[in-house]
Amino acid sequence: MRFTNSLGISAARCGIVCAALLCATRFLATAAQPGTAQTKQQTSRKAVATSTWSKYDCGDGVELRVSAASASQGSLLLVEVRSGKPLTAVAGSWTDKDIPFWQANAAAAKGTYRWRAFLGLDLELAAGEYKLSVSGKSDAGEAVACAATIGVRAGKFATEKLTVAPNFVEPNPEQLAKAQEDGRKLREIFATVTPETLWTGRFRVPLDGVKTGGNFGKRRVLNGHPNSPHTGVDFPAPTGTPVHAAQRGRVVLAELLYYSGNTVVVDHGWGVYTLYGHFSEIDVKSGEMVDSGAILGKVGATGRVTGPHLHWGLTVDRARVNALQIVALGKELAAE
Ligand SMILES: [Zn+2]
Repeated sequence: MRFTNSLGISAARCGIVCAALLCATRFLATAAQPGTAQTKQQTSRKAVATSTWSKYDCGDGVELRVSAASASQGSLLLVEVRSGKPLTAVAGSWTDKDIPFWQANAAAAKGTYRWRAFLGLDLELAAGEYKLSVSGKSDAGEAVACAATIGVRAGKFATEKLTVAPNFVEPNPEQLAKAQEDGRKLREIFATVTPETLWTGRFRVPLDGVKTGGNFGKRRVLNGHPNSPHTGVDFPAPTGTPVHAAQRGRVVLAELLYYSGNTVVVDHGWGVYTLYGHFSEIDVKSGEMVDSGAILGKVGATGRVTGPHLHWGLTVDRARVNALQIVALGKELAAE
């Protein structure tokens, strides 16, 4: 494998100096070097708007950008590879996962090619530093490789004590078998990556006129027993309130699950799934394509609940993250 930096010096030829100086930025740009290349442009209004991005030089006119150099458990980051030339086979890896990239086509027209990926920091990923590695190939078949170190901070999740129907804390064997089968089905869905961008632009909150919800990541004690953390965002609303798809996608599950009640899961492509739980009524079928804003069902109180509400979950490459963060990335996604 031969690597060449932006000055045209190959790593093999320039030896130890290169290894110490050039190759350090070429092969492993770490979080200690975010936002290098402070230029006049960065003080312009446009640059200020993107100044929170951490940038890492991969050489050969290729740059890796990450929407934040550190974030807390349950966060969603956006990762971008920018290049003046076309690249192929752009791929990433993070912890034990492959991170799929899609090409953000609109930008290619301006002479900059951009590939993007979501990076989900699972709400139970241990706090620490993790390496994100990205690779690709140039037209000439040369390898491009780069890495960033991303800090994961412990989330500040409160503990909550709730009382629910006893069968949701100590299910009988039949109920337990159903719950386990549901879990197996969901894990299989979330492990599947559809290599297609089914969404277009921004994601929305599934209830009209609602901007925020709560309970994400809360550690829960149910009827006195410690339980698993809460993986979604809850929106209390009257039974019958229409629930809309957060974006375009394919319905891959529309059925009654033991804990989340009447549930719909939408596949948006590239490992991005939204889950909607506790419906009183489901209005879509598995396999159906839905547009952003399509009515998936109505708010209800089915499954393990203390009252009518929408439970909204977001899973990205099997990482359980705060769904509101994909809404917050709206401006970036709208620009694609
Ligand atoms: Zn919930």
